[in-house]
Amino acid sequence: MKKVLLCGKLFTAENDDVLENMAVVVEDSRIVSVCSQNDVNTDNAKVIDLNDKFVMPGLIDGHLHTTSNGGTKEEPGYRTTADLTINALLNAQTDLLAGFTTIRDEGSENFEDVALKKAINAGRVDGPRMITSGKVITATGGHADSRFPLDVHPDVSYGAFVCDSPDDCRKAVRQIFKYGADQVKVMGTGGVMSLGDEPGAPEFTEEEFRAIFEISNTRGRLSSVHAHGAEGMKRAMRAGVTTIEHGMLMDDEAIRMMADTGTYLIPTIIAAKAIVDNGVESGIHPENVAKAARCIANHYTNLKKCLEAGVKIAFGTDAGTPGNYHGMQTREFQLMKEAGLPPVYILHSATSRNAEMIRMIDEIGTITPGKYADITAFDGDPLEDFETMNHVKFVMKDGKVYKS
Ligand SMILES: [Zn+2]
Repeated sequence: MKKVLLCGKLFTAENDDVLENMAVVVEDSRIVSVCSQNDVNTDNAKVIDLNDKFVMPGLIDGHLHTTSNGGTKEEPGYRTTADLTINALLNAQTDLLAGFTTIRDEGSENFEDVALKKAINAGRVDGPRMITSGKVITATGGHADSRFPLDVHPDVSYGAFVCDSPDDCRKAVRQIFKYGADQVKVMGTGGVMSLGDEPGAPEFTEEEFRAIFEISNTRGRLSSVHAHGAEGMKRAMRAGVTTIEHGMLMDDEAIRMMADTGTYLIPTIIAAKAIVDNGVESGIHPENVAKAARCIANHYTNLKKCLEAGVKIAFGTDAGTPGNYHGMQTREFQLMKEAGLPPVYILHSATSRNAEMIRMIDEIGTITPGKYADITAFDGDPLEDFETMNHVKFVMKDGKVYKS
């Protein structure tokens, strides 16, 4: 069915312009034309009046975890794959209703994200488009290695493939693709929300990274490295990774390398800030709060250097980490602004730049004839005040209206 969206203000994300009194014509799942309201033909069309709104492409969250809810206290009891799958479904639907028509899941425990993506794509449940990682790769004792104790079952980890050699890494990445994930995610340095590891320290040798990214690159797949420390970032880049997550302890050489290689950075400011803001009083372990504070200390300064150096800064939130709830990750827009990034640059981060990052720019990321009709609308002008991004008024994905 033909739909005509009357747009008071329209940011197509094809460039920096905001157009006025435009119309976007949608047929079935695709955008078929973008024109002035004076020239649009509304015969036999359902007209959707967004004349008092700021209309833009559907948002893309480049880094989140659908299986994690964002609570600050550990959930009671064991979490099975069944529990996590239900989390994933509900969180992904919450993301969609917050305006995120595409999400990139940066690691579930046991391929729950892949199962969810299949169900969404088959039309069995509602949800956003998904890029999935399945299970992540880490090293023994590294970020996301939650093993049973040595005296119980030293070889079984829940939530990650634990790899300690290039051969282990090759086997894990092949399994990740075998079980249907779109990309490979590697825990390349220690992290914030794990105990006993060091965010500044690499967890893999360059040889191990190379074993992983050789396979993902030859298969034409994305690869993603969780890396705070500069050395881990550099090893991963030399080994051919496509995106760096967090990067909170980067140095000037790492910034130059990202700019030179075109490696995307997903800064996830909100993840560290929510842990620091909620603090130990909320139930987060003191070691985790201390690490978050250390990681965020120079992040804003570094992001400004990245912008000046021409690093491609993408939009991602790590929604699902403590105090960082699905549906509220739009607060990252304001934080990126506080870090000194220009508002229009930030809108591109969450639309066109993220679509390029996930290699879907021919299908989504801008409001352009031929692309999927993934469209959102907000009150006021987000370029003036990002507060409005926290209250999306209209969400369309694939030409279907999910919120109006
Ligand atoms: Zn994450």
